[in-house]
Amino acid sequence: MKKQFDVSSHSAPQVAVENALAENALAESALAEHNAPSTRRQLPAEARPTRKRRGFTLLEMVVVIGVIAVLAALALGWFGQSREGARRVQCDVRLKAIALGLDAFRQEHGRFPTQLAKLRDDGYLTEPDALRCPSDALESSTGYEPFYAIRAPRDSSELPILVCPMHEATGNHGAQAFVGRYTTHSQASPAVLEASGGATVQHPGQKEAVAATANMPLRGGDRIRGSATIRFADGSTAVLQSGSDVTVLQSFIDGHAKAPLYTLVRQTLGDVTYRIHTGSKFDVVTPTATAGAHGTEFRIVVDSGSAGSTRLFVIEGKVSLATVKKSGFAPLGEWVEVDSLGNILGGLLP
Ligand SMILES: [Zn+2]
Repeated sequence: MKKQFDVSSHSAPQVAVENALAENALAESALAEHNAPSTRRQLPAEARPTRKRRGFTLLEMVVVIGVIAVLAALALGWFGQSREGARRVQCDVRLKAIALGLDAFRQEHGRFPTQLAKLRDDGYLTEPDALRCPSDALESSTGYEPFYAIRAPRDSSELPILVCPMHEATGNHGAQAFVGRYTTHSQASPAVLEASGGATVQHPGQKEAVAATANMPLRGGDRIRGSATIRFADGSTAVLQSGSDVTVLQSFIDGHAKAPLYTLVRQTLGDVTYRIHTGSKFDVVTPTATAGAHGTEFRIVVDSGSAGSTRLFVIEGKVSLATVKKSGFAPLGEWVEVDSLGNILGGLLP
């Protein structure tokens, strides 16, 4: 076929025939182009039609603009969602940095700092917002500080825990916690407030406390003041006498689904009786001590008059008690007192 279009050595009488052939070839090439554009290259340059650049048709423009509009809408929606996602990632990064800082502090001082702020003051963390969740918009917020707890400073298997209440309820992300290591995707279990006798609840990130209502769901970071009963997801309860001040720090299943519920509360004031579901793990952090128990019943009183000294009475079972100075098990059926410096008055069992 290529031979037919070779016009380099034609003689005069052949011109008309060749022109006719060439015209025929033009039609053929147009058809070939329509059916299979790739065959165009096989044609010699002379036989190629001189084509004007074709513009877009109206339909093509409409389709292209439509596609661009859909893509733009998708991108905008995605960015909106990803802004909160980015804050969550940044929160993770900060929590991990704090965990590393805590470990470095312990290696140098032989103990964990009593306050997170110490990490920044001593130069373990240099970022100005290192101790605050990026989603925490409250100006008066003290960041992660209230959600940091040293559980049992003398026992290496019981490392500090740090939670971010801002991100507890978002999707299946669950609680972020440090139990000596960084754990994600813990399943947070909300508690319920029962029989609220004039108690108030302050949610994390909220300026004002709200009046408690019956069966009000509680999540990590909620601070309950007054007389009330908190029922946790496993049936454990905390009965608060009037004047009590308790923050639910965390109530979560660590790692796998069959792990027991682990609940951590902070009691800064008042008289509270805890009844823990068998098999569940429960820690109470007071200004001077941490009491931890598996399925047991105990009562803790934090006095306002003497700089947060703590009194513990074990009604049933085994309760470990730890301060910055000492740790052990509290005896059954008698009061043990911890003074404001962490000294334990009264005997502890080894
Ligand atoms: Zn956070």
